[in-house]
Amino acid sequence: MSSEKAQFKAVADRSRCCGYGLCATICPSVYKLDADGLVYFDDARIPPELEEEAREGAAACPAEAVWLEPIGAQGNPA
Ligand code: SF4
Repeated sequence: MSSEKAQFKAVADRSRCCGYGLCATICPSVYKLDADGLVYFDDARIPPELEEEAREGAAACPAEAVWLEPIGAQGNPA
């Protein structure tokens, strides 16, 4: 029982992403950039210890293309 539960998941609207890369600069553990420079996630679940960094990364996005959502409210897996 050692796994810490993620409370939030990252969500991206890639149609809004302009590839500025600020999110990935601030929180590279969560936000990745694909070959076109657009954001994606290896795993959208945010470990609790990365939550603050992930919020900062999302807040820094000039296009408001990424944000965090609570996990579990609608049974919608990442
Ligand atoms: S900061 Fe926003 S626009 Fe820039 S790569 Fe990240 S999601 Fe895309």
